[in-house]
This record gives sequence, structure tokens and C-alpha cells, in this order.
Amino acid sequence: DTIGQHFDKAAARWPDTEALVVRHQGVRWTYAELKRRVDEVAAGLLALGLQPGDRIGIWSPNNAEWCLTQFATAKAGLVLVNINPSYRLAELEYALTKVGCKGLVLADSFKSSNYVEMIRTLAPELDRCSPGDLKAARLPELKVVAHIGHEHIHGMYAFHQIAEAADDAARKRVAELAGRLQFDDPINIQFTSGTTGFPKGATLTHHNILNNGFFVGEAIRLQHGDRLCIPVPLYHCFGMVMGNLGCVTHGATMVYPSEAFDPLAVLEVVEREKCTGLYGVPTMFIAQLDHPEFKRFDLSSLRTGIMAGSPCPIEVMKRVIRDLNMEQVTIAYGMTETSPVSFQSAVDDALEKRVSTVGRVQPHIEVKIVDLDGRIVPRGTAGELCTRGYSVMLGYWGDEEKTAEAIDSAGWMHTGDLAVIDDEGYCNIVGRIKDLVIRGGENIYPREVEEFLYRHPAVNDVQVIGVPDKKYGEELCACIRVREGHEVTEDEIREFCKGQIAHYKIPKYIRFVDEFPMTVTGKIQKFVMRKQLAEELG
Ligand code: ATP
Ligand code: MG
Repeated sequence: DTIGQHFDKAAARWPDTEALVVRHQGVRWTYAELKRRVDEVAAGLLALGLQPGDRIGIWSPNNAEWCLTQFATAKAGLVLVNINPSYRLAELEYALTKVGCKGLVLADSFKSSNYVEMIRTLAPELDRCSPGDLKAARLPELKVVAHIGHEHIHGMYAFHQIAEAADDAARKRVAELAGRLQFDDPINIQFTSGTTGFPKGATLTHHNILNNGFFVGEAIRLQHGDRLCIPVPLYHCFGMVMGNLGCVTHGATMVYPSEAFDPLAVLEVVEREKCTGLYGVPTMFIAQLDHPEFKRFDLSSLRTGIMAGSPCPIEVMKRVIRDLNMEQVTIAYGMTETSPVSFQSAVDDALEKRVSTVGRVQPHIEVKIVDLDGRIVPRGTAGELCTRGYSVMLGYWGDEEKTAEAIDSAGWMHTGDLAVIDDEGYCNIVGRIKDLVIRGGENIYPREVEEFLYRHPAVNDVQVIGVPDKKYGEELCACIRVREGHEVTEDEIREFCKGQIAHYKIPKYIRFVDEFPMTVTGKIQKFVMRKQLAEELG
């Protein structure tokens, strides 16, 4: 199926089930209602002059319009380009021009940024153009701009005007497209998180992401009647694929608690909407569990969910099971380029495996672990994880060179992650090749040292990185966020390590920090930390 075909089947099968609840907008739509709106937006986009195959950007935090745009573009055969809501001018221009967006849907503002003003700076011509007929020097391909708001803004449509533009001819085209679009057509360009550098635009098909959403939902036993709280960003695959497509392939309800992550909003919405599932990266779960009002909430409806996106500390997993009642929580591992998930633990895995590994390989995906020369390593040995199968992207948009570096001629995606697979097939991600620290010829996996330091009662969150060193090449630095109400010194941390881990793994430098540099997806940017520390240490 294409996403549109599948979406229509879901709407026919569960018309009266709630499809979407958006707390901060007061939205509550059944599948039938969502489909009616999606069809109008799809027809409207075509009526405004966009053609199947055209790219259309969405630059917005989480809201109902995001969801409408996701499914409407899929039905109209447009390629949705997810733009990080934290992007500023230069990044926005890069994303829009890189993929040649013809359309753009944007929020009016988000956090302290006025998006409308920013797009005007890039395209001052907007003020002199009628909406839909933009001729901007810096964004020559951009024609149609719509903002998610109700005011009149010169040169732009308001979002509701898209649906209002739908006419019978456009509706007929949408109906015809349902039979013409191919499952392997590109439908989505997602930029990677930018954890290790500049984000890259991965081109994904219906087949890639629809199937992945389905298998992810299967792994957490999502079913009709489930209500999934989605606090992760929709612009990222965690929200739009694992969240939205996971729900639509299982007749579950998508519940958005807030525009951007807010731990209190999550707790409130889980209680009020009786959510049965919850997603998050580890830092989000930590923020919820540590919230001063945590105890006030009845979270007994929760059962399942996913922690993913970065290394998931065992302690945090255990607290999620115990204090959030997420008996069936699983860990997933994936990357934007593979739609995203390729490993996920299963609900019936032994608890110890479920909290300490990323589980086993997902159905219909092949994996291998190779050394630097590309040879498969013995089981139990760390090496680069490579994956192959339906989930691998078509490539990085407009970047054949980077694509060829990532996907080899036999179709293997080289993930850049170091992993070990045990005899039973359970996989451990031991770190990124780029984060591996080599100190005096010894390979040190920061993750291992981090897991050890988490055992210290004063350590709330810790990141271990390598910093340049004249004698050893690199030395370890542990950056620690201290748990509230606790105090600890550098010496106490070193003392804690002595005799417990090998001497060369004991961090030479220890820094106490308030926060870590982070992507909007909640991932910690170690490359930024390395740069800051290298500067500090001269
Ligand atoms: P960029 O590629 O731009 O540097 P990124 O790799 O963080 O950013 P994503 O595609 O969002 O962009 O994230 C995929 C990466 O996240 C994986 O390659 C892996 O390093 C990490 N990751 C995802 N899930 C897990 C997990 N469960 N455990 C450990 N690491 C994970
Ligand atoms: Mg990556």
C-alpha cells in the first residue's frame, strides 16, 4: 500500500475511533473526521498549483496541522520535507534550497522566534506577491506559502484556506492518484538530527516508513483502543513514523501533549486522556520522573511505550517500568536513514535483556557487524553495524557522494554505530564510531563508563567524551549533572571509580554542568562538548 491507501483503510475500519487528540489546541477528531479534513487539504494543495512529486516543507512544532499535512501530502503525492522547528534563517534557507521546496507550511512563531518574520527576511518579495505566486530571488523555487494561524498575512495563505481552495477537479485528482501513486515513490525527506555534525536529508518512500511504523507498533503490541502519548517532535521520525504511522496502522489514537516537549504537560495528558502508551528519548523520561509534581499524577493507564534515540540507561528503564507503570516498555534502535527502526526489544523478552539491550533485529531486515576492513566479526565482538532491507532510504537528497559513502553497492547501510550481537541475537549499541575514545591505543566506549557512573547516587545524568591529549592522544572527560539535593566533588567521583573500572577508563577530567548541548530531538551533541572542552583546555 501507499500511505494514502493505508490511511483510507484505517478510516474505513475505525471511523468512530478517536484518531487525534491535541491537548494544547483542544482538537479531538475521529478517524472519519481526520480523513475528511486530510482529503480536503490534499485537494487544496493540488488546487493551489502544487504537483505530485513537488517538495513541500513543514516548519512547525507539534500540532494538528502537522498531522493533516503529513497525510494530505502523502495522498497528493507531494514529498513532505520535515524542517526542524529550531532551525533559524541560515538552516532554513539551506533546507529549502537543498531540496528545492515549492511549498512551505510554517507555524507563525515558536518559542522566541517569529517564523513569519524570518521567512520574510529570506523572501521580502512576499509582501508584493499574491499568495501562491511568489517570485523570490533567494528562494526561486518557492511558490506557495501557508502559515498555521488565522490572521491575514500578506503573501501567504492561512492554513484553513488550503482546504477551502479544494474544488471538485482537485478532489477527483486526489481520488485518481490513490490508484496511481507507487509504494516506492519518494514521499518524505527527513533531516538527520545533527548529533554529529550537519544534518543530512534522507529520502524515504511510502514503503520505507509505512512498514516501519507498522512493525514498531507490533513490537509494543499496539492495538485498536490504545492511546499513544507523543511528546517527541513530529518533524523527526520518532514522532511522524513511530508515533503517527504506528497509530494509524493499528487504529490507535495519537495524543499530542504540547507544541514542544514539556514534562508537566505529558504527565497531565497521560492522566487525563488515560494514555496506554508513551514515547520518549531518555532525557524526556528523566525529566518526567524527576518532575517535582510527579507523585500527584495517576499514571496507572500506562502499559507500553518506547525509549529510543540515544543510549538508554538501565537505571532509567527500570524507573520507567516501576514508576511509570510501563510494564511493556521496549527500547528501539534506529536512524533516520533506515525509516528509522532496525532493532527493538520485544514485550516478552526477559526483563534483564529488555532493559540492557536494543533487542533483536526487526522482521525483514538483515544485519551484519563488520570490522574496519569490512569483514564480518565473530559474535560477541564489537564492530560497525550495517543493515539492509526494505527500510533503507533511497539516498541523501541531491548528494550522491554522501549516499555512496553510507550505502554500499550491495545495499548495506553503514550506520556509523558500534554494536555487539550476542549468541541469542540481542544487540548492544556501544557507541558511535565518531565518539569512540582512543587513549594510548586502548579503545574506550564512553557508554560503558557512563553506565558505571550512573550508579553513583549523586549522578543524575552523565556524558563521557574524549578530549585531545599530547601524551595519550585522548583523555576522558566526564560531564556530570548532579541530582538535586546531592553534593559531590571530583575526588569523590574518582574515588568511586577506583578498583571498580580499569584505571585508564577513570576520567582524567570531571566537569559539573547544568545542561548539555542538545538537538531538538533531545540528543546530546558530544561534538559540541568536545569542541568546548578542547578550547577550554587549550
Ligand atoms: P546525525 O546523523 O545528523 O549526526 P543522528 O545520527 O543523531 O544525527 P538520527 O538519525 O536522528 O540522527 O539518529 C540516529 C542515531 O541515534 C543512531 O545512529 C544511533 O547513534 C543513535 N541511537 C538511536 N537509537 C539508539 C539507542 N536505542 N541506543 C543507542 N543509540 C541510539
Ligand atoms: Mg546519524
